[in-house]
Amino acid sequence: MFVRQQSVLKLSSVISSFYYRTMKIRHFNALEDNYMYLISDDKTKECAVVDPAEPDVLVKTIRNEGLKLTTILTTHHHYDHAGGNNKMLILMGADKGQIKVVGGDNSLQGLTHSVTDNEKLKIGEIEVTCLSTPCHTAGHVCYVVTDEKEQAVFTGDTLFIGGCGKFFEGTASQMQSSLQKLASLDPKTLVYCGHEYTKKNLQFAATVEPDNQDLQAKQASLTSVTIPSTIGDELKFNPFMRTNQSSVQRFTGKTDPVECMAELRERKNRF
Ligand SMILES: [Zn+2]
Repeated sequence: MFVRQQSVLKLSSVISSFYYRTMKIRHFNALEDNYMYLISDDKTKECAVVDPAEPDVLVKTIRNEGLKLTTILTTHHHYDHAGGNNKMLILMGADKGQIKVVGGDNSLQGLTHSVTDNEKLKIGEIEVTCLSTPCHTAGHVCYVVTDEKEQAVFTGDTLFIGGCGKFFEGTASQMQSSLQKLASLDPKTLVYCGHEYTKKNLQFAATVEPDNQDLQAKQASLTSVTIPSTIGDELKFNPFMRTNQSSVQRFTGKTDPVECMAELRERKNRF
């Protein structure tokens, strides 16, 4: 379903109109609670999609708007993220190699371009930086996009709003490093994650830090679509980004951030 207009309206209050003449980000719902994204450069009309699990609506939008798809950015190999890559290529009628399929895991559906940490790509005039963020899966990649006026990051199943992904192929130490890598981005960076899990994540966060006023304010202002967040906001209320805070360490009974991360994940798994 095409619902991205909502986020455009939300963003328009904080982002200058010049921003929209360069980079535009739209979100689409897929499957149960997944988000897919379309990133377009208004100057060159080039665009990319992120995790196109149900590509029909993306292809329709790309055609209707006369955009040129150059790149499929895949965060990780799970079917609800990478499972639509081949269908997307078929629907676009692309010859082999015409559209780059990017990711960090060699088993990714349709992969043509395996990226390394900090590798840079271009979508028109938009710069993309690929950040290796292993743990949820070993080859998980987050994508930072910037038009030099504004910046956003697509975090897949590594960072959720108020939470983080399960440790399927990695350790607490890896999740700690991956989240700290994201934490070091400009606090104004917009966060677009892979699933709408925000409500439940914040309910868990409230058991960790019942006195966190930023968390209470976030819970009070929730709407059905909760993206985007910002890195700065996640640092204020996401317990998995706050393993160095005494309040979160007290809850877990661990003072080492990695042990705190491991314990938090255990507690969330049982929540
Ligand atoms: Zn996943």
